[in-house]
Amino acid sequence: MSIDITPRGYQDIARKIENGERLTKDDGLRLFACPDLAWLGAMADAVRREKCGDIVYYNVNCHVNLTNICKAHCKFCAFGRDAEDKGSYAMSVEDAIAVVEDAKKDPHLAGLHVVSGLHPDWSFEDYEGRLAALHERFPDLYLKGFTGVELTHFAKISNRTVTEVLQRLQKAGLKAIAGGGAEILSDRVRGILCPDKATSGEWLEAARAAHKLGIPSNASMLYGHIETIEERVDHLLSLRELQDETGGFMTFICFPFLPANTPLAKERNLTQTSMWDDLRTMAVSRLMLDNFKNIKAYWVMLTVPVAQIALSFGANDIDGTVHKETIMHDAGATSPKALTENKIIRIIKEAGRIPAAVDAHMNIIEMIE
Ligand code: SF4
Repeated sequence: MSIDITPRGYQDIARKIENGERLTKDDGLRLFACPDLAWLGAMADAVRREKCGDIVYYNVNCHVNLTNICKAHCKFCAFGRDAEDKGSYAMSVEDAIAVVEDAKKDPHLAGLHVVSGLHPDWSFEDYEGRLAALHERFPDLYLKGFTGVELTHFAKISNRTVTEVLQRLQKAGLKAIAGGGAEILSDRVRGILCPDKATSGEWLEAARAAHKLGIPSNASMLYGHIETIEERVDHLLSLRELQDETGGFMTFICFPFLPANTPLAKERNLTQTSMWDDLRTMAVSRLMLDNFKNIKAYWVMLTVPVAQIALSFGANDIDGTVHKETIMHDAGATSPKALTENKIIRIIKEAGRIPAAVDAHMNIIEMIE
């Protein structure tokens, strides 16, 4: 018995996927409109298996958010604060080192993920100095940090080009760029949600500059707020185009918008995305981003159960142990603030896959057969 699960009207897209042909913008729009989630998942899972096999990456890492004081006031953000607000903080070098000392109690800690607010009174050197101090104190830890938004901000406040900023950070120990800040690469959306930070073009340019220097970066998409489906597809196409040009993106991460405590949710009465939307967005991303090897199910925002299911919807990476995540939890993330390595391994194995601990450059440190 042969069973064809392709929904009516999608045979042409199924054929393209089977033949490894590139999907068009129209295909992307049709995939988002496809009501058959199981088929979408099966297509994305088949492509994942072909590209990545059954290995699922995770990392034992620690997030270091140097400050939550931020002048950008993005409407979807519950992390940024003004200096006089309750709960605002700005870490000294010693504070940042203390966070990592604590995380170092885990002997498998392999890397740091350093992203922060755009502090109105900090100079570029304030950020650079903290990064350099972390590198000096923990030279064995892989340093990934700073988004395209932060890099653009550093360039503006220091009268340097993004390339010059990156060269300085590279000297200070930076190995890879974080993927946040892309939100939706549409100037319409950014004009409403975050007019005071990097534009779409500036975010892409920061990634391009990093890739040209041989610094890899991640890419992300924050969806489920005011964007249209067409803007989601255009976002994926912008990333695919830059990846064609540079090949410097390591991983794509889908971030569902978490409304709690955000000005945007209050203003527009927005609710959280459904699991259905999370899984179809994961699957469509895998299918559209044919030149990205890694698609991450970020458990902090998706929740652990949805991230585990997403491993069958195109994802081959589940992020890391994280160690006290704060940015998403300020926005109401209901997931734990950290996961143990054993828990991550169990989640991956339960999904029938092979866990592999990696550094932020996706080098395999240990495979857990
Ligand atoms: S998203 Fe980033 S840049 Fe925007 S307000 Fe929050 S911390 Fe600041």
